[in-house]
Amino acid sequence: MDMEQAKIPQATAKRLPLYYRFLNNLHSQGKLRVSSKELSEAVKVDSATIRRDFSYFGALGKKGYGYNVEYLLSFFRKTLDQDETTKVALIGVGNLGTAFLNYNFTKNNNTKIEMAFDANEERVGTEVGGVEVHHIDDLENQLGDLEVAILTVPASAAQGIAERLVEAGVSGILNFTPARISVPSHVRVHHIDLAIELQALVYFLKHYPLMEDGPVDEA
Ligand code: ATP
Repeated sequence: MDMEQAKIPQATAKRLPLYYRFLNNLHSQGKLRVSSKELSEAVKVDSATIRRDFSYFGALGKKGYGYNVEYLLSFFRKTLDQDETTKVALIGVGNLGTAFLNYNFTKNNNTKIEMAFDANEERVGTEVGGVEVHHIDDLENQLGDLEVAILTVPASAAQGIAERLVEAGVSGILNFTPARISVPSHVRVHHIDLAIELQALVYFLKHYPLMEDGPVDEA
């Protein structure tokens, strides 16, 4: 993201890929404009939030017209660097890692897993989803200028590998292990614990059932 766009609040920035995906669909259906109400229903973010988010992009919806799809898309493409593919490394080719390699994010955005690493000799040298699996010992040699990594190793290996990744120049880690990892302040870690997410969903269903016309805000 460039300087001008660095002013977008983090909460807004997190919603960008969501907006982008939906607008891309509209665009491929030939739609020229979209109302904040339509968007709100599709992405499940309330329309006041959408209007506020979009005002940061300089996109001012016109009453009775809505937003220009083309304008928003070109803004999002620029902001999300969709013109450039971000190369990603995946560490740990177990069940979850294998699923990611086979999926490889090609359908929704321009990130691509370029290489994978594992400690298991039987996996090293194979290809999964068209991606070569290297030995974890070769991490530093193979990484090159990759800056983003997905961690799908056992929790016990997470901290040590994170440190090696940071030392090798990685500045963003998507951590799928249950371990909370410590990194220097210039490194961003996003932690996704699927078991906890699922547990939270079940808890919310039990304790905060939604009304038919309940809030559409993200939880
Ligand atoms: P999951 O579904 O979480 O991937 P799994 O049962 O398939 O689980 P895990 O034991 O979680 O496998 O290990 C995930 C992968 O990480 C395995 O392929 C394993 O060989 C690999 N691995 C384990 N330790 C290391 C390590 N230190 N460095 C790199 N890869 C590792």
